[in-house]
Amino acid sequence: MHSDLEQLLVLQDRQQRIKQIQTENTTVPLQQKNLEAQLAASAASVEALKQKMRQVEMNRKKLELDVGTRTESISRLKTQQYQTRKNDEFQAIGHEIERYENEIRKLEDEELELMEQADKLKAEIGAEEKKAAATKESISRQMTDLQDKSKTLESRFQELTKEHTELAAKIDEDLLSRFDRLFASKGDAAVVALEHDVCTGCHMKVTPATAMQVKAGREIVSCENCGRILYNAS
Ligand SMILES: [Zn+2]
Repeated sequence: MHSDLEQLLVLQDRQQRIKQIQTENTTVPLQQKNLEAQLAASAASVEALKQKMRQVEMNRKKLELDVGTRTESISRLKTQQYQTRKNDEFQAIGHEIERYENEIRKLEDEELELMEQADKLKAEIGAEEKKAAATKESISRQMTDLQDKSKTLESRFQELTKEHTELAAKIDEDLLSRFDRLFASKGDAAVVALEHDVCTGCHMKVTPATAMQVKAGREIVSCENCGRILYNAS
């Protein structure tokens, strides 16, 4: 094989690995964001339940106050009832007391319902908090893994870039710029094998003349279809 081609192939290998690392690196912040979103969602579901709980507690306190005012009214009415001499007034006050007592019973029933709701919510919050703690732990582990991965990628990137620079310095300038242009435009490979007279870059058969030139290996030959530089695979 042409010695320039051998160098180009090594250069291409490093360049492909560098590109792969860059692609992997772009996913790291996305993965981090995704994990942060999971963490936020988990915290939000606990907070939503706690908010519900606060609402239930507030409603319960309001009911307690309502019961309190009615209890006070009843004791005030009972004093009035005790002091009256008139029978019809005594009875009217009695009805009013009864009305307040009925209201208190209803309020107490509602309070019981709210207490049941609070118990249920308490259990739900407990379960959700447990789940959130597990999520937090798992996410923090994944975050650490991501940071480690990012560090590994970064040091690998530095090594490859250094190697790439050293290799590129040894290659003829014109050939290198031809390679760079091809690599940039094709996105995958600038130098590809010719297998059974077929370019493995574009999968087209080259002309017999081109195939012969590639096999002779005396010059840099391009695929007449896609422009990639060819080397003889057999
Ligand atoms: Zn081709």
